[in-house]
Amino acid sequence: MTSLTASFIGGEDVATVDSYDNLDPADGSVLGGVSRGGPDEVDRAVRAGADAQPAWAATLTEHRADALARLADLVDRERESLARTESEDTGKPLSQARTDATVAARYFRYYGRVIEAFYGSTIPLSDQMHVYTRREPYGVVGSIVAWNYPLQLASRSIAAAVATGNAIVLKPADETPRTAVALARLAQEAGIPPGVVNVVTGLGAEAGAALTAHPGVAHLGFVGSTQTGSTVAHAAADRVVPTVLELGGKSANIVYADADLDRAAEFATKSILQNAGQTCSAGSRLIVHESVREELVGKIADRFRATTLGRGTDDPDLGPLVSTRQQERVRGYVEGAGSGEVVVGGGAPEDDHLAAGSYWLPTLVDGVDPTCPIAQEEVFGPVLVTLPFGDEEEAVALANGTDYGLISAVWTRDLGRAHRVAAQLQAGQVYVNTYGAGGGVELPFGGFKQSGYGREKGIEALEAFTQTKTVVMHLG
Ligand code: NAD
Repeated sequence: MTSLTASFIGGEDVATVDSYDNLDPADGSVLGGVSRGGPDEVDRAVRAGADAQPAWAATLTEHRADALARLADLVDRERESLARTESEDTGKPLSQARTDATVAARYFRYYGRVIEAFYGSTIPLSDQMHVYTRREPYGVVGSIVAWNYPLQLASRSIAAAVATGNAIVLKPADETPRTAVALARLAQEAGIPPGVVNVVTGLGAEAGAALTAHPGVAHLGFVGSTQTGSTVAHAAADRVVPTVLELGGKSANIVYADADLDRAAEFATKSILQNAGQTCSAGSRLIVHESVREELVGKIADRFRATTLGRGTDDPDLGPLVSTRQQERVRGYVEGAGSGEVVVGGGAPEDDHLAAGSYWLPTLVDGVDPTCPIAQEEVFGPVLVTLPFGDEEEAVALANGTDYGLISAVWTRDLGRAHRVAAQLQAGQVYVNTYGAGGGVELPFGGFKQSGYGREKGIEALEAFTQTKTVVMHLG
């Protein structure tokens, strides 16, 4: 008998009559049921948040910090079971899920520490005036997150929102609700009062839409596709509610002829195969100087061929995609690659034991037309396209030549070029001779252009979850 994942609201499980199946992407079997929360559950969660938030905001900062540190310890304690659940729900390899759990703990520990050093400022307006600013929480904030890093995404919004004295109502992705509910329970065990952390499970068009429309939600964070992000931002604009949108990407590794090609090949491979390419910041484009293109493509193709595929909980290099729907989407992009040459992969694996899962082989398509969909849009699969360039300007133009602007990496031994190009790239993060930084908990993260606006992670998230009040007092 499979179990039901219910919402966690005001410190209690809240199940609905209707539920839907949580499917195992490794073989399509049913992992359990998920409560199909809707407007009623959202309303109950927002009310629970509104009841709990004033006392939580008034709690001494050091005590909020202590609770977050305890929560970090509890996430560490539950690391293995959280990782296993995450791996089952998403299909990601177990060792990547373990890393996600480690990063999740780090969010709580980090925000527990930095919140004690986060405060307003005084402004020397005149001798007659005492002017200071206060950073105040919004109240009840809503958060809607994607399925690709459920534990990390939930932790990064819960940690920063709760550290700053907000209550939160989180809507996990339809496919991956279990670790978010587990986190909410652990928050309670850590001493965070009931109602401060609420999770409403359900479908985007129901629970998600209800959260964006609820008049009691004072701030909305959204992590997901650009299309849904735009819908959420419209709903928020109707109520004049601030939003942080963390959306998709089409990030590039830009490799110059003087780069360390072995290191570039290693990171280019990891940056597209991690989580089967279902990463907002996946390095899905390789912009490579034509003089080293053949050599680098060969090195990456060798790595792709050596990749092992299998069920996430068996800890292969590459697990299945999250669903068959996602598999079909990837197929569509690869089949529409036009003049590009498929050097390796290009389809689902033919092995019998993988046939029931939504797997896709690591795929490298060389020399695609930069304007075709596979080079412009987010494929969200283990699919890398290469785009050759001749000079520095052309490389920058190619890198900036999509609607997205999430992250980029520059590979060169020329320091001047590294800084010049970093300044010209339209991206929220630029890496030089590396790609990504583990969880990057401390590093402000967010997009340029259609990759979104606002920043999560780092100190900037504390600013995102608070509003500034300026107090001006005449001393006469
Ligand atoms: P999605 O937009 O389909 O769904 C994201 C969330 O929105 C889910 O929880 C879903 O239930 C909810 N949702 C769907 N319709 C809604 C509606 N009408 N109103 C309110 N909520 C609704 O995205 P996805 O397929 O789950 O995730 C993949 C996308 O997320 C990719 O584009 C990826 O790049 C992006 N992503 C971005 C970041 C980042 O930090 N920039 C991180 C992870 C994923």
